[in-house]
Amino acid sequence: MKTVRQLYEEMSTQKAADGENPKGFDQAQLDCLLDPGFEAGDRLYEPSGDVQASKDVLPVLKVLSEEPGEVFAIIAPAITGQFEGVADPGKIRSSLKAIGFKGMVEAAAFADILTLKEALEFDHKIHDDKDFMLSSCCCPMWISMVRRECPELFDKMPASVSPMIAAGRVVKHMHPGATTVFIGPCMAKKKEAKEVDIDDAVDYVLTFSELQEIFELAEIHPADMDGDEKEHSSRSGRIYAFAGGVSEAVQATLGQLNREGDVAIRAKKADGALECKKLLAEIKSGEATANFYEGMGCKGGCVGGPKKLVDSAAGKEAALAYGEHAAYATPLDNPFILEMLHRMGYETIRDFIEKSDFLTRDFGVSKAAILQP
Ligand code: SF4
Repeated sequence: MKTVRQLYEEMSTQKAADGENPKGFDQAQLDCLLDPGFEAGDRLYEPSGDVQASKDVLPVLKVLSEEPGEVFAIIAPAITGQFEGVADPGKIRSSLKAIGFKGMVEAAAFADILTLKEALEFDHKIHDDKDFMLSSCCCPMWISMVRRECPELFDKMPASVSPMIAAGRVVKHMHPGATTVFIGPCMAKKKEAKEVDIDDAVDYVLTFSELQEIFELAEIHPADMDGDEKEHSSRSGRIYAFAGGVSEAVQATLGQLNREGDVAIRAKKADGALECKKLLAEIKSGEATANFYEGMGCKGGCVGGPKKLVDSAAGKEAALAYGEHAAYATPLDNPFILEMLHRMGYETIRDFIEKSDFLTRDFGVSKAAILQP
């Protein structure tokens, strides 16, 4: 069984042989998660006791004022293009650090890891034309709908956590005692963070509108900040922002696993509650002929989430552009991810599948109320 590092080295050698220029691991990319460089004196905003803010904004301001330097932000892939004049997340990172966050981690980097996990699950479980699986790694509304309407399909869904939960767990593993704040376009994520089997990962969930509110309170204009860009995520993780992104990412990664004579992936996606319900009915009736099903509760995926700040077409365009700028195509190309897996003690792919507790959940113990689509 190959180590993660060997796999990366082999792929780099192959790319070099193909005339491509593989990018090595850049220590400067470790900032924010593996080697944060926070200076308390850099903080531009001092929260005062008398601010008027919405319900979930106040506790975050409180924790930032009480524990400066110990709070990490986790941003959803759909954040690109949401704030005026801000195309890439680098300016958001500078803005969050100015408020007092120690670092900003892209959930897209953990979407990379979960893409690799889902590709390996597919390779492991799908062996003939009758086998199929449902993606579980992203949308809490989709998971709730499957749980409520098609419990008989539940065992076709790997018990993977979402990129948000994986990111929170890794941050807390690497920085014991840290507080984590997820920022996205989604209301359902507030409830997901409290589900009993995964409530160890994320302490607060803010929406883009709530982050906007904080920027306004702090008089921070992200567009005017310096861009603190990092290459933590590959194209695969970045395109989780829109419907079809998960399937495309898993398909691209699976294509790199050198599988021979095995079943090809046939992906089908649904977005929006009605489409998701229709797709589940098709799967139940046996009419659906794909072998990998992706559901997203919002029309267009997360770029169409209820707390988006721009319309979903503009959000998708920005997410696609950010994906195209990625230095790496998939998690298997991404040395940041491979370095992180290595540092977390995963030496082989088998280790990764069998012992990745921080990537798995126990749906059986989750007693959270089922979310309404
Ligand atoms: S598709 Fe909608 S409900 Fe699902 S994770 Fe994205 S924003 Fe949340």
